Amino acid sequence: MEHNFQNIPIQLLCEVIDLLNPSMDDYLYLYDTVNDFYYISPHAANRFPIAENAFYNVSETLAQLVYPPDFPVLQDDLNAILTTQKSEHNLQYRWVDRNNQPVWINCRGYVVRKDEKPLYMIGCINEIGDKRKADNISGFLGENSLKAFLNDIHEASLNGFVLRLGLDDFKIINEKLGIEYGNLILRKTAECINQCIDTHQKVYRAVADEFIILDFTENDLEKAELLYKSIRHCVDELVKANHYEAVYTISGGILSWRDIHPDSPDALYPDLMKLSEFALNEAKRQGKNRFYIFQEQDYAQFLKRRRLTQTLRKAVNNNFEGFEAYFQPLYLMENGALYGAETLMRFHCEEFGNVSPTEFIPILEETGLIIPAGQWILHQALIACRLFQQHIPDFKISINVSYVQIMKSDIIDEIVSSVRKYQISPSDVIIELTESGILENNLHFSRLWSKLRSKGILLALDDFGTGYSNFHYLYNLSPNIIKIDRSFTVQALTSPYDYNLLGLMSSMAHELDLKLCIEGIETEAELNHIARLKPDYSQGYYWGRPCPLTQFLESFFSK
Ligand code: C2E
Ligand code: CA
Ligand code: CA
Repeated sequence: MEHNFQNIPIQLLCEVIDLLNPSMDDYLYLYDTVNDFYYISPHAANRFPIAENAFYNVSETLAQLVYPPDFPVLQDDLNAILTTQKSEHNLQYRWVDRNNQPVWINCRGYVVRKDEKPLYMIGCINEIGDKRKADNISGFLGENSLKAFLNDIHEASLNGFVLRLGLDDFKIINEKLGIEYGNLILRKTAECINQCIDTHQKVYRAVADEFIILDFTENDLEKAELLYKSIRHCVDELVKANHYEAVYTISGGILSWRDIHPDSPDALYPDLMKLSEFALNEAKRQGKNRFYIFQEQDYAQFLKRRRLTQTLRKAVNNNFEGFEAYFQPLYLMENGALYGAETLMRFHCEEFGNVSPTEFIPILEETGLIIPAGQWILHQALIACRLFQQHIPDFKISINVSYVQIMKSDIIDEIVSSVRKYQISPSDVIIELTESGILENNLHFSRLWSKLRSKGILLALDDFGTGYSNFHYLYNLSPNIIKIDRSFTVQALTSPYDYNLLGLMSSMAHELDLKLCIEGIETEAELNHIARLKPDYSQGYYWGRPCPLTQFLESFFSK
């Protein structure tokens, strides 16, 4: 067929674009190069920062619309169209949306010419960012379809439940068996879901390895539980039928529509995603291969922890405002003399008051904030040690170090150089590491740990008796001191069996030329009882509670 595109009036083309607008997610456009006029599908004006979908002075408006670093590329291409015989435009680059965020687009167009001179370019722009509406692997609709579906729901209260399923450790499957195999598992899991759901239930695939099932019948969470169990059973059968080639499990987060209280109809989708993600994460956190039913109080606790995390981060960035170093005395058992002090971190803020280290230290470790906070406390400890040593020249300062600091920062070098900087003898510094944090077979860890040892710094294995109390550690890490945790001390005070066990540990430590420190001595009676086991040092409320520097100086050195 012979085309006569040159003769189609521009006006008519614009009308066709308008006509197709309701049927399109993509954007049709027309660029009239003769009149320097641009026309785009009307719904583009909702998404992109243009006042109207028709404008003159094209390059001026495009300059505002295109993500600045991509503008030269676009200009080169348009110049080529205007100055050469190039008649196809096909470019992937970025525009910005109404929030000034970059949006990837694929822009294609065809140039219609008359006597070689371009008349207009017409084409289509489609978004190529995460706009996927359906997923060909699982055969389910995607997140954007879920969003569109929920945005169309206008009922005030919904009945039924949401079950969000996630494959456990899917990343590991992909890594070990390859992406292709991972896709196969996703497809097979989707088949399991299809076998188990009712016709009225809806399924969407969410992020990589998750599925969201919606039910609108009744608020019966037991039904959700049964659905989860039947899907899990089906997955188990699949693993068996596959001769255990990939053993994998699936977790589920369940919530009722009544758990979601969106402020506006638009909030239904983000709220559903937020709460269902929390529920699924809880199931995984509780050990995977299980389901969890949403509980308001758990969610409130989760939010509190998140707020505390933000508060801690702010405090660290605000010159450690709210952090304080406390010191607790350590005593020699043989003569009851003050031997040293353990440095303990404290945190206080307006919203949460005094927060216990057993609560905030794990958060600092998880977020990596323990790296700056640990650095800070190291310096507090060494500064304090200088002051203490004005009274007792070989006073020992004990500092807790977390394995995160050792593995992810230069704390070991920093300890060595700081001890030198403050002119403290390395043998007056004790670094405590909790038994549970030890990565025994990690060469990197062992090397760093030995480095401290080679510099003459003393090493203590903390909380001995709480974890597996692996005697291997004593051999591999050869600490100078082992510290017996209070929970074990308490047991030894009441159970003769544990008392004897502690006695044996004491003799063994001495056989190995190690020192033993007993933590958590609260009364004189406890002290006398424990003293018979001949530990080397003890620490506890009996001798003194952890306190700030000034109070420590006053209590122990003012007489
Ligand atoms: P930990 O290293 O085992 O510290 C000893 C804990 O026992 C301290 O708890 C101390 O206040 C408490 N304690 C001492 N004597 C007694 C007693 O007679 N009775 C009772 N009931 N408790 C006693 P705290 O200060 O709450 O610290 C808890 C844990 O937080 C520490 O246990 C340590 O693992 C961690 N931590 C504290 N400060 C730091 C730090 O600067 N860095 C790191 N990485 N961890 C720290
Ligand atoms: Ca300690
Ligand atoms: Ca301890």
